[in-house]
Amino acid sequence: MSINLENYQKINSIIAPYHAQLVAVSKTKPVEDILSLMQEGQIAFGENYVQELTEKHEAIPENIEWHFIGHLQSNKVKYIHEFVHLIHGIDSLKLLNEVNKQAEKSGRTSDCLLQIFIADEATKFGLDEKEATEILELKEKGQLNNIRIRGLMGMASFTEDQQQIKNEFSGLKKLFDQFKQQPYFDTLSMGMSGDYQIALDCGSTMIRIGSALFGARNYNK
Ligand SMILES: *Cc1c(COP(=O)(O)O)cnc(C)c1O
Repeated sequence: MSINLENYQKINSIIAPYHAQLVAVSKTKPVEDILSLMQEGQIAFGENYVQELTEKHEAIPENIEWHFIGHLQSNKVKYIHEFVHLIHGIDSLKLLNEVNKQAEKSGRTSDCLLQIFIADEATKFGLDEKEATEILELKEKGQLNNIRIRGLMGMASFTEDQQQIKNEFSGLKKLFDQFKQQPYFDTLSMGMSGDYQIALDCGSTMIRIGSALFGARNYNK
């Protein structure tokens, strides 16, 4: 078994006083690892790749909560929207419109987070404050009726500079508070294996942890 149970218990005890939720990020990891962690009581799992997620969805029984945390292409929404619990990475209006369209087709409502760009790296995706505000205004005007925007998601820069990470997470929390009167707006998804403690201290309600639970990822298998 390659899951780190000691870290799993440690992280659970750390997040308890914050009332935050743990999403176990299982991308590139085998189904057996997911089943092992489910046996410990973990329900929420995060995946980044559509094909990998659909395969795992078929292999694993229903009592799991799938979070899509990666960059989602509009033309792939149709493969996952019906079974995904929360889409974290809404980074364009085009993508949100597609999720809305697919949800409407199947008579559902999809829960989504707006991904906000907070890092200083051009490689990360996300909306800026103005784009996020425009999307929320469309909702207020009665559009995007098959979407519930549950909150915001962000990824801090990959840096050793703790103060910079703190500034980025604090900025995201400030924006979250600005939007908080929106209906159903209750989720601030920020914090990964290397920075979840800072994220929790900055007001995260949902951390996404991969390598601390499943070990380092090997992308060239
Ligand atoms: C991979 C990934 C994570 C988990 O990263 P770790 O550093 O392994 O905890 C969290 N969020 C997103 C968006 C990811 O892509």
